[in-house]
Amino acid sequence: MMNPDWEVVLGLEIHCQLATNTKIFCGCPARAPEGVSVADLGPNANTCPVCTGQPGALPVLNRKVVDYAIRAGLAMNCEIRKHNVFSRKNYFYPDLPKGYQISQFDLPICEKGHVDIEYKAGGKEVQKRIGITRIHMEEDAGKNLHMDAFSLVNLNRACVPLIEIVSEPDMRSAEEAGAYMRAVYGIVTAIGVCDGNMQEGNFRCDANVSVMPKGSTKFGTRAEIKNVNSFRFVEKAIEYEVQRQIALIQSGGKVVQETRLWDSAKGQTFSMRSKEEAHDYRYFPEPDLIPVHVDEKWIAKVKDELPELPSQKKARYVSELGLSSYDAGVLTSSAALAKFFEDTLKILAPDGNASGNTAKAVSNHLGGEVSRLMNEENLELNQSKIAPKHLAEIVKLQTANVISSTGAKTIIGVTWKTGEAVDGIVEREGLKQVSDTGALEKAVDTIIAANPGQVAEYRGGKDKLLGFFVGQAMKATGGKANPAMLQEIVKRKLAGN
Ligand code: ADP
Ligand code: MG
Ligand code: ZN
Repeated sequence: MMNPDWEVVLGLEIHCQLATNTKIFCGCPARAPEGVSVADLGPNANTCPVCTGQPGALPVLNRKVVDYAIRAGLAMNCEIRKHNVFSRKNYFYPDLPKGYQISQFDLPICEKGHVDIEYKAGGKEVQKRIGITRIHMEEDAGKNLHMDAFSLVNLNRACVPLIEIVSEPDMRSAEEAGAYMRAVYGIVTAIGVCDGNMQEGNFRCDANVSVMPKGSTKFGTRAEIKNVNSFRFVEKAIEYEVQRQIALIQSGGKVVQETRLWDSAKGQTFSMRSKEEAHDYRYFPEPDLIPVHVDEKWIAKVKDELPELPSQKKARYVSELGLSSYDAGVLTSSAALAKFFEDTLKILAPDGNASGNTAKAVSNHLGGEVSRLMNEENLELNQSKIAPKHLAEIVKLQTANVISSTGAKTIIGVTWKTGEAVDGIVEREGLKQVSDTGALEKAVDTIIAANPGQVAEYRGGKDKLLGFFVGQAMKATGGKANPAMLQEIVKRKLAGN
């Protein structure tokens, strides 16, 4: 889809909801209690005078938010600003009860970092470093619910802590942006600062998109696509927006700086409003909060508590398990996926010495069918019913040649939905392969006897007919023959042995 005459320039602003117990400036719970969906909380159940913006109510900064922001900054190779300041971003919208959002502006907590990404484009593996301009702390807004004749406001989300991770305009394709978004997701979930529940908006991004003629060094005017909460949609939205901008310029029009929204049903972006500039927000230092001072001791303590990062995990999977860098990258793209992988290996090799083949087999399923289902259904791994015990069983059966790779996929599909035991599925769906040499030889003999013409042609040099015999014999076993064994027997019999 990339147009050879145009260069695409992309920068992402990722909003990541922090997994703290309480909100950023008050003591209200920041999340629904365990087992309850945010959507099921009563409207405005999680609110108080501070987060509803009552006159005279004062914010008090939640220290954990600063901890988490530093943690994210260190994980993304940022410099931590020792003196950082909250600012007011002024705008009017019903879901923002104070009439301003407390955010950070010119003195954010983290600056000048980077994230390394790896992805496949046109069959080739590409590695690239994406710059992080800044990471700042801010409060989320509430939610408006528009009815026919009136609107409702739910402030449960108001004052929930966010970090905004702003990238440099370093990305040059939709795939690159998708890979970057996945890499950041992998990091924030691995270090435990974000639950990563994308459907509930825990992790969402604004994609800034512009195009310029190939070879130009002057960036084009950007449009910003707001609030995209899926990896797949971000790529689709960017691809659409790039084509829209190119067509617009080619037909003599001009891209205007604006905010657009992605309509996933129509597969299009549409204009929401013309884009504000920073000065429209009348930023000024928040007078109700003192500046945040972060000393070396604080930074050292957070650094000390950092768990293994995806990049470190990835290097370990490559050196200890012999996985390819790309496969290891896929597995470490989410904390849940990496944990699933390790838990499955633990079942298969309780002594901790899983062989390279075992690791590869587990990795192939997770990077293949399981990832495909996650993408297709836009679900996180923990929202499905498949568990490490299922995958371990599948790999065991496949290694023992009891099931085929197609059978393995079928079982993954069923356990994904139902979580039922693997042996029951194998029985019910008749997935056991025929690996009994006698039975396979009998089937092959029958096919050979029934097709003397083809046998003669094959023996006369028409090698392609091998597939015909294998196919017929496979059919005769109801598709259950072990393919490798069957192929070997057909070849041997046709050769007259
Ligand atoms: P705002 O909040 O107004 O959107 P920011 O500076 O916070 O502005 O974010 C701008 C984002 O847009 C950054 O991620 C940056 O890399 C990206 N960006 C800036 N200029 C361009 C451009 N011409 N094309 C694409 N992305 C851009
Ligand atoms: Mg923006
Ligand atoms: Zn509150």
